Amino acid sequence: MTQLERQQWDVVVVGAGGAGLRAAIEARERGARTAVICKSLFGKAHTVMAEGGIAASMGNVNSGDNWQVHFRDTMRGGKFLNQWRMAELHAREAPERVWELETWGALFDRTADGRISQRNFGGHEYPRLAHVGDRTGLELIRTLQQKIVSLQQEDKKEFGDYEARLKVFQECTVTRVLKEDERVSGAFCYERESGRFFVLEAPAVVLATGGIGKSFKVTSNSWEYTGDGHALALLAGAPLLNMEFVQFHPTGMVWPPSVKGILVTESVRGDGGVLRNSDGKRFMFDYVPDVFKEKYAESEEEGDRWYEDPDHNRRPPELLPRDEVARAINAEVKAGRGTPHGGVFLDVSTRMPAEVIRRRLPSMYHQFKELADVDITAEAMEVGPTCHYVMGGIAVESDTAAARGVPGLFAAGEVAGGMHGSNRLGGNSLSDLLVFGRRAGLHAAEYATSLAARPAVDEIQIDTAAAEALRPFSAEAPEDGSPVENPYTLHQELQQAMNDLVGIIRREGEMHQALRKLAELRMRARRAGVEGHRQFNPGWHLALDLRNMLLVSECVARAALERTESRGGHTREDWPGMDRAWRRVNLLCHLADPTEGLAPPDSERGQIRLVREETDPIRADLLSLFEKEELVKYLAEEELYE
Ligand code: FAD
Repeated sequence: MTQLERQQWDVVVVGAGGAGLRAAIEARERGARTAVICKSLFGKAHTVMAEGGIAASMGNVNSGDNWQVHFRDTMRGGKFLNQWRMAELHAREAPERVWELETWGALFDRTADGRISQRNFGGHEYPRLAHVGDRTGLELIRTLQQKIVSLQQEDKKEFGDYEARLKVFQECTVTRVLKEDERVSGAFCYERESGRFFVLEAPAVVLATGGIGKSFKVTSNSWEYTGDGHALALLAGAPLLNMEFVQFHPTGMVWPPSVKGILVTESVRGDGGVLRNSDGKRFMFDYVPDVFKEKYAESEEEGDRWYEDPDHNRRPPELLPRDEVARAINAEVKAGRGTPHGGVFLDVSTRMPAEVIRRRLPSMYHQFKELADVDITAEAMEVGPTCHYVMGGIAVESDTAAARGVPGLFAAGEVAGGMHGSNRLGGNSLSDLLVFGRRAGLHAAEYATSLAARPAVDEIQIDTAAAEALRPFSAEAPEDGSPVENPYTLHQELQQAMNDLVGIIRREGEMHQALRKLAELRMRARRAGVEGHRQFNPGWHLALDLRNMLLVSECVARAALERTESRGGHTREDWPGMDRAWRRVNLLCHLADPTEGLAPPDSERGQIRLVREETDPIRADLLSLFEKEELVKYLAEEELYE
């Protein structure tokens, strides 16, 4: 039996980004003793990188905005594949969550009359993103962190212990969710610095671990994005939803190579930045798809007028949803009209005075100056698509954020699926974190405190989790002469394969090739070995993360192969159109054999089984928010009839 420290909590929140912290605050305020555990330092989650803002229909800059318009934009952005109840809750509750954040101390930029300022972003009909320059995520995390500290101070007064009801375990990783029968019983964890194992026993676990971008070579995502929560849910028996939908943000840096993929915020275009090809042409006017034709300007003049007079002009096509802009850039570069470093030009220098650029886009100004020696107040940036966000994720109940099929498991934030359909609108993630983080915390606390008896932690599961975590230290070369594998090499090969074969434009043959490569990597990953000790050992951490990245990558590749249409963040060269019949289909990824766990090491058999499921019909009052002519473009024949 593995000897290790155990602690008892009511709710364990895995992840200290926006979703995790908001969940933890809610759970603690609902009376649950709550532990938060995260891989990085407290306050350093991926959310701090969020730049542009939080989408919420407060109507501060254009009073025409309201939750119904936000709902409509979100559904259009997701090409109607969104879990509509989530999109409804999100649109209704986002303003309250932003105002709440302000009461907790967030200092948003203001309008001239002193209200929270809101900026334009792709796919949003009105200026809707509350922001703090281009450092909104940092302010969001700072505020939530401050709220947590204030709750801990309350506990100190009441119990003499800051951590009596809310404790943060920083620089720790969860490798397994533990269960008794079907129900959650806790989490198996290790300290990254010392390698020490410990168990957090709890009847409710909230997964808020973010995304999967580190499986792709060119990405805007941080080192934490190894798909851990997605994999933890799968391994615990919960399905993942629509994993084929991966967002490639249109504007990442393309040069120099060391910074390729780093994000160039959409605010640049929201504030007037224009995209041009190497001929100097504003090419986006050639790429407005039929479903959006009526809503976007037909000429540069009209697009430019919109910034001053949005009520009488249509928005420029640079502000189309991200999937459309990313595909257009990809096509321009492919057609030989790209920049010297394989991107297109994004120019804000001819659109705003230098001091306004430095004030409104301070991070972008410094990012380009320091990393590429480009002064964006005087010259154009070179940009191209970068893997940015995963719309697919853990299948959850819309109202409660409960993961399907595993009582006690909840999920919120980027790790959860459904909310954004096939494509997320900019700004809708930060609001998603707050709306569903709160809901997850609330329902996890209610669930945990209502149980008559707590599920017990199974000793065998602890032993198995410990053995699994230690395996890289005893990896041996097999007798056939194959080498012990280096986790860094495996990771690089995985990133290259996903980028090249399951990237922004997908083809059937290449995805089969990807699945074969993933099977090979999975077998080699079983021989991934590391040297040294458990004390801070990045090679060991990566060896453990590989299990998660391989599982999640297989989900993306299998689902992308199955969906024979192009929609949102999933573009098939061999199936270029959106097919209305596919709107009714969700693809669920399950672990192939949950009783057996992962496939045997020597097997080429996949680990993921795909199940098709019919989507819920959209509620009639929500459908009535759209014109009939628009619905005809999206809904399946039988849905229209109904
Ligand atoms: P995160 O903030 O990533 O937090 C995940 C947490 O889980 C971390 O604390 C991590 O350490 C922890 N974790 C992960 N695995 C484990 C494990 N195994 N054990 C323990 N802990 C674990 N969205 C917007 O709405 N507006 C924007 O302006 C915007 N700008 C962006 C700019 C950039 C550069 C990027 C990359 C994204 C941007 N996004 C934006 C998207 C948005 O930032 C993310 O989707 C969002 O922050 C995700 O938050 P989260 O709480 O789900 O996860």
